[in-house]
Amino acid sequence: MKKLIERKLPFSKKYSVLDISITGMDTDWSGCDNCGRPIANKAVIMDTEGKQFVIGLDCLKTLFDAQSIEKSSYLKSADEYQDASRVATFVGFAQDAQTNQDWLAVTATKNGKTKECPTVLVKRYAPEFLSAVPA
Ligand SMILES: [Zn+2]
Repeated sequence: MKKLIERKLPFSKKYSVLDISITGMDTDWSGCDNCGRPIANKAVIMDTEGKQFVIGLDCLKTLFDAQSIEKSSYLKSADEYQDASRVATFVGFAQDAQTNQDWLAVTATKNGKTKECPTVLVKRYAPEFLSAVPA
């Protein structure tokens, strides 16, 4: 297993996830409250004292692996983290996107390659991206 690197947010604390927002690379970047690197995809988390932090999905994964993320109403399981991460990869890949006929999946193409992601997931984690996709 990859060694987990503790940065600004201590592993000893517990955090809950309030929101995940995947916007892709064209939007405003901000700095991750954990590692300080610029991030496009953001997770808002809160510690047990109610303090909120905005971190990138990589740092969210690290906190997950360190077992510092509590199950919350927003993110109930590591599976949901996997879903968010899948949408992040998809949105990052997308150059051209369109929904398929039955509206069940979004298809993206880039340099002749195609990827597909269930619409329900894109809607949940990247609503801004989805609203820009032609039907
Ligand atoms: Zn970070």
